[in-house]
Amino acid sequence: MNETYDVIVVGYGFAGAVAAIAAHDAGAKVLLIEKMKTPGGISICSAGGIRISKDKDQSLRYLERTNGDTAPVSLLDTLATGMTEISSFVEKLAAKTQATTKTTTANANYPFPGYDSFGFISIASIENYDQDEAYPNVRGMRGGARLFQVLERNLADRGIEVLLSSPVKKLLREGERIVGIEAQISGKMTALSAQKAVILACGGFEASAEMQKSYWQEQDVQPVAFLGNEGDGIRMAQAVGADLWHMWHYHGTYGVKHPDPKYPFAIRLARLPDWLSGHGFPENNAFATGSKSDQPRMPWIVLDKNGRRFMNEYPPYLQDTGHRAMAHYNPDTQNYPRIPAWLVLDDEGRQLFPLGMPSYHQEGVSFEWSEDNKVEIEAGILHQASSLEELSQKTGIALAVLKQSIEDWNECCKNGLDEEFGRPSETMMAIKKPPFVFAELWPIVSNTQGGPVHDDKNQVLNPFGEAIPGLYAAGELGSLFGHLYLSGGNIAECFIGGKIAGENAAAES
Ligand SMILES: Cc1cc2nc3c(=O)[nH]c(=O)nc-3n(C[C@H](O)[C@H](O)[C@H](O)COP(=O)(O)OP(=O)(O)OC[C@H]3O[C@@H](n4cnc5c(N)ncnc54)[C@H](O)[C@@H]3O)c2cc1C
Repeated sequence: MNETYDVIVVGYGFAGAVAAIAAHDAGAKVLLIEKMKTPGGISICSAGGIRISKDKDQSLRYLERTNGDTAPVSLLDTLATGMTEISSFVEKLAAKTQATTKTTTANANYPFPGYDSFGFISIASIENYDQDEAYPNVRGMRGGARLFQVLERNLADRGIEVLLSSPVKKLLREGERIVGIEAQISGKMTALSAQKAVILACGGFEASAEMQKSYWQEQDVQPVAFLGNEGDGIRMAQAVGADLWHMWHYHGTYGVKHPDPKYPFAIRLARLPDWLSGHGFPENNAFATGSKSDQPRMPWIVLDKNGRRFMNEYPPYLQDTGHRAMAHYNPDTQNYPRIPAWLVLDDEGRQLFPLGMPSYHQEGVSFEWSEDNKVEIEAGILHQASSLEELSQKTGIALAVLKQSIEDWNECCKNGLDEEFGRPSETMMAIKKPPFVFAELWPIVSNTQGGPVHDDKNQVLNPFGEAIPGLYAAGELGSLFGHLYLSGGNIAECFIGGKIAGENAAAES
C-alpha cells in the first residue's frame, strides 16, 4: 500500500463530498478520490434543492406509499427522520462559506397522504462567487452548482485531501474486510489503504449503455448531463459480493437528441411550471420571473411510430415517469413502436416557451436553448412541416392516421377531456396552426437509482443481508427509490446517507 488513510471516499459529487466532510469531522483522516478532471459529477448540474420534512410521520407515510415495498420501512424512516434534521447541517456548511440558505414549503409530486409535509432547503447566495467563472464546463440549474461550491469550500477549509483524474478500479480485501482501493493515479495503478472503511459514492450508470441494456427493457436511452458515471461502483461492489437493488429504476423522462455528435447528451423537455418553479434556467428568464403566462399548458402531443397517441404526455411528475410508457416492446413486430416516438406541436405552441432544458457537466460543450425554439429548428434538433401532408411524408406516418390523431386530439381539447389517457384539461392545447413542429423523442435518463443494497448505517450488504465489513455506499449508488421518485429525493439521500456513511465509517475501529 502506497499511502494510508482512515476513510477513502470514492466519487466527488454531493454524496462523496458530504461523506468526506462527515468522516473528517468525526476525526478520520480522509481521502476523496475522483475519476474525472473536474469534480461535481451529476450533482453540479442539478437544481440543488434538498428535500426536507416538516413532519416525519407524514413524510414517512408518503415515502412508504411511493416506495411500493421496494426498501425496508426502517430505511425510509431513517430518510424521513434525516429530512427533519438535515437543515441545520446545511446551514452550518453555508455559514462557514459566506452563503445563505433558503427554505421553502413544497408538496411532493404525487397526491398521496403526507404529500404536503415536505419542503426544500437550498443555497440562495454565496459571496464572491460567479458560476461561469467557477464552473465553465457546467450548464444546469445553478442551484446545484451553488450547493456544490459550498461543499467545495468546506472541504478546502478543512484541508481534506482530494485527488482528481484518478479512477478507482478495484476494492482491496483482507479476508472479508475491505481494506483499501486500487486506483489509476497519474497513469499508474496505485494501492491505497483505508484502515477504517471505503465509502463508494461514485454515482450510477447513466453513461453505461451496456449496463442499461442488461437491466432495462427500453433501448436506446440517452444520458442528459454527464459521462463519468459508468457503473464502476456497482461493478466494484458486485466483485466483493454486494447485493443490488432498484437497477430497473431511473429518474428519467422523454427528450430530444442534438444532431451534433460533439453534443453527447439528450435534452429534457420542460413544462412551463418547471420554468416557473425556478427549475428552468437561467434564473432571470421571463418565465422564472413570472412575466410570461403561468398557465400549465403543454403545446405538444406524443405519437408512436404508427402515428397514434399512447400516453398522458403530462403525468404528475414528467421527470419521473415520462419515459415509462415508451418501454413497450412489440413481440409480433419485434420492435419498439414508441422509440423513437414523435413530438408534434404547432406554430402557436412553438412560441409558448422554450421546450428544452439542456444541462451538462462536460468540457468543450456549449449550448443554450432559445426562448422561441427557432435556433433549435435551424440546428436540426426540431423540424418543421408546412402541412400535415408534409408532416406525414417527413415522419413516415400514414396521412390518414396522422389526420385522425390530430383531429381526435383537437376534439379532446375542445371538450377538455382526454378519455383515453387522462391528460389534465388545463394542459391541453390544440394543434392547428402550421408550420407544424416535430422531432424524434427518446427515453432519457437523468440519473439511475440502482446499486448496492445498504442498511441504516449505509453499510453495503451481501445477498444474505450481512454487512460487508469496511464498505459503505451513498448517494444515487444504491438509492432507496425503487418505485416512484420524489423530486429532491436524490440530493436528500446524498446529504443524509452521505453524512450517515461518513460518521459510521469514521467510527469503525
Ligand atoms: C439535470 C439533472 C437535474 C437534477 N436535479 C435534481 C434535483 O433538483 N434534486 C435531486 O434530488 N436530484 C436531482 N438530480 C439527481 C441528482 O443530482 C443526483 O442523483 C445526485 O446529485 C447524485 O449525486 P452522487 O454524489 O450520488 O453522484 P454524482 O454527483 O454523479 O457523483 C459521482 C462521482 O463519482 C465519480 N466516479 C464515478 N466512477 C468513479 C471511479 N471509478 N473512481 C472515482 N470516481 C468515480 C463521478 O465522476 C462523479 O464525479 C438531477 C439530475 C440531473 C442529471
